[in-house]
Amino acid sequence: MPDIHHFVNGQTLVGTSGRYGDIFDPNTGVVAGRVQFASTEEMDAAVEAAAKAQKTWAQVNPQRRARVMFAFLRLVQARMDELAELLSSQHGKVIADSKGDIQRGLEVIEFACGIPHVLKGEYTEGAGPGIDVYSMRQPLGVVAGITPFNFPAMIPMWMFGVAIAVGNSFILKPSEKDPGVPVRLAELFMEAGAEVGLDLKGVLNVVHGDKAAVDAILDHPTIRAVSFVGSSDIAQYVYSRGTANGKRVQAMGGAKNHGVILPDADMDQVVKDLSGAAFGSAGERCMALPVAVPVGKKTADELRERMVAEIETLKVGVSTDTQAQYGPVVSAAHKQKIADYIQIGVDEGADLVVDGRGFELQGYEQGFFIGPTLFDQVKDGMKTYQEEIFGPVLQIVRAESFEEALALPSKHQYGNGVAIFTRDGRAARDFASRVEVGMVGINVPIPVPVAYHTFGGWKRSAFGDTNQHGMEGVKFWTKVKTVTARWPDSSLEGHADSSFVIPTMK
Ligand code: NAD
Repeated sequence: MPDIHHFVNGQTLVGTSGRYGDIFDPNTGVVAGRVQFASTEEMDAAVEAAAKAQKTWAQVNPQRRARVMFAFLRLVQARMDELAELLSSQHGKVIADSKGDIQRGLEVIEFACGIPHVLKGEYTEGAGPGIDVYSMRQPLGVVAGITPFNFPAMIPMWMFGVAIAVGNSFILKPSEKDPGVPVRLAELFMEAGAEVGLDLKGVLNVVHGDKAAVDAILDHPTIRAVSFVGSSDIAQYVYSRGTANGKRVQAMGGAKNHGVILPDADMDQVVKDLSGAAFGSAGERCMALPVAVPVGKKTADELRERMVAEIETLKVGVSTDTQAQYGPVVSAAHKQKIADYIQIGVDEGADLVVDGRGFELQGYEQGFFIGPTLFDQVKDGMKTYQEEIFGPVLQIVRAESFEEALALPSKHQYGNGVAIFTRDGRAARDFASRVEVGMVGINVPIPVPVAYHTFGGWKRSAFGDTNQHGMEGVKFWTKVKTVTARWPDSSLEGHADSSFVIPTMK
């Protein structure tokens, strides 16, 4: 694989910093290519191009901007296979799951196709005598997104889909671990513009890098808003530094999602759902379900027994294996981190029921594979419960009552997603209302909201107060302006009087 360079002002910008990161094939463990890391000068060049492009782009009428989104949607759909293969080869998730990653991003682009309707603003006729009030949402200017490795297509599209549709230009700093798809998306976006007869160079730029590139974004005076998704400590850092520099920042962090299983739940469904949600994508999802909370001993014993049987049916394979449920994790370091957490769990006294550490795939011994792992008797004081493992590890934390089960996700430092499995509508409703978590599933294991709703967790899963996509995304990527207008009208009583008190509506 040739080096992956930046994509700035509609073309490849060859990196000159001399700094780069290795890109691995997680199936084989072999270095498959390199990605250039940007210097401050390269970031400056991207921002300059973006600032120039934004002025013209913001003047394009909303319907035409929507046509670009429609064209982009079609172009990505037409290349779904090629993009999914590229994604899978750098990330390690299986092809079907890679397509899901792209598709969930495209659903935000579908939302962005409706941007003319969404941007209509608000209007009050006759707010006072001869006075009308209207408000409009205007783009911010140059904005940026910093994204994690685990959804290299969906999360960039969450951000730039809405940000660009409302009239901003965008700098994307994707994860250095799997930067191939983000660059292809930017290239296709230029093609989409050409189909609509627009030159979009500079509207969507991709600048690669590590902390230095992130800091350059956070400190750049021209960049007005930054959206970040990644781990919590870095999210908090990005939020603090970005807001200290006067930027609007939303920063989504890590997660530890719980699945609460009440005694009346449909166990067939629970076992299948937990298996997919805990082990799918090797557990490398912020909406994975790595903690099962069965209520009562009978529920817990049955769950444990059936999960062991279910795990025996799972196939872990290379990411191109269509029979495999999941593939390797993203890097050797991440594999080691997961293995370390498993050992910590054992040392803390949790009951290791199935150990995935010894898993090896014949012919791919150097690949970053780790087998499905199951712990029982995990307690809430344990480090392995409190922290995010981000691997194919399911932990059973037994609860004796509904209240105890409700308290676990509510007290946890993370509050991204949670699920409850039950046939009791009243209990589910009570749970959804009281749990201290941002996204709730009722018999839905991965409650990632659809694109026209909005995505965001609570507590250490999100810093800032505006969510991703949907109307929250529109709000984040625009500033609102409210106009109060009166036209001279001599027929109105007191039309030419001066007033020294604050105007009120009588
Ligand atoms: P990460 O925090 O390591 O990296 C995220 C981004 O930050 C990358 O672009 C990376 O280059 C950059 N970065 C890395 N180190 C940095 C530093 N010291 N200073 C500044 N920037 C830095 O996250 P990851 O491993 O790529 O992704 C996995 C994490 O993302 C998990 O914690 C997962 O829960 C989280 N995640 C959260 C959501 C959500 O919506 N809440 C969604 C997906 C993933």
